[in-house]
Amino acid sequence: MQLDDVARSLVQVIEGFEIIDCHEHLGPEKVRTETPVDVFTLFSHYTRGDLLVAGMTEAGYDALFDQRIPLERRWTMFKPYWDQIRWGSYARAALLAAEKFYGYSDINDETYRPLSEAIQKANTPGIYERVLRDACNIRTAITIRGSDDLDTPLLTRVVPLPRLHVDPEHRVTTWEIVSRPEFDPEATIRSLDDYLDALQRYVVRAKQEGAVGVKMVSNSYEPPNRKEAVAAFESLRSGAETDLPELNPLRDYVTDRAIAYATEQDMVIAVHTGYWGDFRTLDPLHMIPLLQRHPKARFDIFHLGYPYVRDALMLGKGFPNVWLNLCWTHIISQRFAVAALDEAVDLVPMNKLLAFGADYGLPVEKVYGHLVMAREDVAEVLARRIVAKQMSESQALELARKWFWENPIELYRLKV
Ligand SMILES: [Zn+2]
Repeated sequence: MQLDDVARSLVQVIEGFEIIDCHEHLGPEKVRTETPVDVFTLFSHYTRGDLLVAGMTEAGYDALFDQRIPLERRWTMFKPYWDQIRWGSYARAALLAAEKFYGYSDINDETYRPLSEAIQKANTPGIYERVLRDACNIRTAITIRGSDDLDTPLLTRVVPLPRLHVDPEHRVTTWEIVSRPEFDPEATIRSLDDYLDALQRYVVRAKQEGAVGVKMVSNSYEPPNRKEAVAAFESLRSGAETDLPELNPLRDYVTDRAIAYATEQDMVIAVHTGYWGDFRTLDPLHMIPLLQRHPKARFDIFHLGYPYVRDALMLGKGFPNVWLNLCWTHIISQRFAVAALDEAVDLVPMNKLLAFGADYGLPVEKVYGHLVMAREDVAEVLARRIVAKQMSESQALELARKWFWENPIELYRLKV
């Protein structure tokens, strides 16, 4: 038995599976259909990072989406950097999408114009159905969305927990942020308890509206201390301090309470770990005290903490309240995703793995590209065990079905 043949035949069967997409940033479909699109829409998400690292300027990148500039000129600006990034996993999702939906097997000098026209023609109501349901066989995609405006069973909400810092450049907590929380700007906030009440109402309302989880990030949190949190709150309210550093006792306490509120509502705590900006601050190991303090919470650990992969895997190995979610991983690197999933099978009970979440916003077509890559990676891991006679093909497919379908339904209590 050849490994490749076995993997290919697994892929063919998995292509028939219904899928739960475990993480997206998709908004209402009209956001997409009302956005002017062209070939660069396929480069409007993670490929941005690769283009900037390749040497493109921020202004140059932004200009790709300025349709007042002729397409030809934008292509000339883009092409030298495309040549550098086109072999990466991010780019592959775009290439797969271009082929599947628009019939062009490459994005190059010859195809960028007709591809742009095809993308524009297809940018009509129903595009979510065509991509997510028809092409991907996705029953529902769990998407991060604060407001209740999605209006389709194709999307299921997880709501963001409040950011207690101003913005990526000014990562401080201010009175403005605390007194007008983005989750409820009209709330009257005079005390820490007012803030916590508003936060709890937000979580309860989200649950009533059908949200299945909350999302946070794995930062370093000190043990929650109410006295210190009140003092920090009062220092902002009185004006004694104009801002607090990003990591502060108010944030530690609020985060801990938010996890408790979500757990009371039987919602999942989705956690971004690893890779993003200064990823040292997003080490998955930061979660251990919270995992210990909230044994009844269900934590969905995203992205396998890349590059702290073994650390993230160990969270799944050692903590009953942890699930490991391979969202975003297959487009970070297929090699890493295969190696990590293979190791996870050695380490972690099979009910704890979630195989796929595409993690896109505007370029919904790339969900398909990512799914193709995820199926390949899962098949490769399982095929090796079949060839080694450690499992049968039907046992392998049973695992794949758990990872793509049963486990996310069970973890998020989806009613599908
Ligand atoms: Zn994400």
